[in-house]
Amino acid sequence: IVRLAKVNKHFGNLHVLQDIDLEVVPGEVVVIVGASGSGKSTLIRCVNGLEEFQSGNIEVDGNELLPYGKSGKSLQTIRTEVGMVFQQFNLFPHLSVLDNVTLAPIKVRGWPRDKALQTAHKLLERVGIQDQAAKHPGQLSGGQQQRVALARALAMEPRLMLFDEPTSALDPEMIGEVLDAMRTLANDGMTMMIVTHEMGFAREVADRVIYIHGGQIVEQGPPHEVLDNPQNERTQSFLSRVL
Ligand code: ATP
Ligand code: MG
Repeated sequence: IVRLAKVNKHFGNLHVLQDIDLEVVPGEVVVIVGASGSGKSTLIRCVNGLEEFQSGNIEVDGNELLPYGKSGKSLQTIRTEVGMVFQQFNLFPHLSVLDNVTLAPIKVRGWPRDKALQTAHKLLERVGIQDQAAKHPGQLSGGQQQRVALARALAMEPRLMLFDEPTSALDPEMIGEVLDAMRTLANDGMTMMIVTHEMGFAREVADRVIYIHGGQIVEQGPPHEVLDNPQNERTQSFLSRVL
């Protein structure tokens, strides 16, 4: 469902992504780990067209992204088909939880309000916050807000979900509830690319762990191989610092 071929990205002199080749198959859960500044966020932002790149190409569900932002209509399609959850929840503060979740399906998909509301209630129940629907984001805990962000992304019925450190801004006691919601989603078969430092979660949920260093994929494989028995010395030293 995702294919990156020889993707290169520079920020000025900085070569942030170097010849990245990567394929993700439907239903696969890929966890991306690596040190700060290694290019994890840039990589997943490229996948839904939030960042331009300079060479190579990216295909998402049959839509192609091209270098230098020359993707044309497929950029819009990809942004509609791909859901993203960030470290900061980015909810609309002036809208209720329910309106946050129904806005895009109504505006972008053209769904009737009834259908959007029905779906929203189902999704809020799925992430365990159905009783918060009438509140505003500011009245919720961080863990609840992040679950609203997840429900909002799912409301667009995405074919792929991207996560960039979804629990890094949360108090420790709220991390579990967000990871639980993500685990449920993974078990339901969603294709997911996740940047996280939660190694326990990665070990349990990932089909594949990718270790990035200096904009290159230096090691990848099943979690028990990459996390428990890393072959590359950079992976070893990174893991010895975070595990
Ligand atoms: P972290 O774990 O800290 O989130 P990361 O692996 O997500 O790190 P990126 O955010 O992808 O790293 O950044 C990769 C490199 O690109 C870093 O050196 C960063 O300083 C640089 N960079 C990121 N965004 C920009 C930008 N908009 N302009 C210039 N340089 C940037
Ligand atoms: Mg990052």
